Amino acid sequence: MELEQVRDNLRARGFHAEIFPDGKAVSDYLNAAIDGTTVSFGGSVTLKELGLYESLSTHNDVHWHWVGGAAERDRAMSTEVYLTSANGLAETGELVNIDGTGNRVASTLYGHKRVYFVVGQNKIAPDYEQALWRARNIAAPKNAQRLGMKTPCAAKAERCYNCDSPERICRGLVVLWGPMLGTETEVLLVRQDLGL
Ligand code: SF4
Repeated sequence: MELEQVRDNLRARGFHAEIFPDGKAVSDYLNAAIDGTTVSFGGSVTLKELGLYESLSTHNDVHWHWVGGAAERDRAMSTEVYLTSANGLAETGELVNIDGTGNRVASTLYGHKRVYFVVGQNKIAPDYEQALWRARNIAAPKNAQRLGMKTPCAAKAERCYNCDSPERICRGLVVLWGPMLGTETEVLLVRQDLGL
């Protein structure tokens, strides 16, 4: 599947969607588009790899609990702009995210004027079922391993065991079929592997 077709499928659903050749290009785009405003981030290895907290903080008021601690989660709920990635993106345009605390998926649904999803090519799957499979069996185990959780997936991060562990990180699933009403939502596709 060409990224152009994914972009067109996203646009048909009402998302703004663009393609970028690499991480630098998408970072430059975001730094031009987001200026002099309040910004917050969901937990995201993609955003970390791109150094977006550091670059956007030079000209915006940015809140991220990965930097400032748990109290930043509450401040992050009311910013003008929100950035995150996806655990899976279907070529047909559905965005899939699994969350443990809920702040990240909540912010993709309500509370911000603009929401950006930065999605590396590795997150794309042929259809919704495979995007969900990716979120559950690739992204979530890798995240559990990264967080050092006591879950059966964390040792090898090779698949989900649908565990009943107290430290299970998969507690909510949100699928965006389209942008939420009242929220400008952009999906930025990057021809580079980013995140988990
Ligand atoms: S449900 Fe449990 S085993 Fe499956 S990915 Fe989540 S934490 Fe790991």
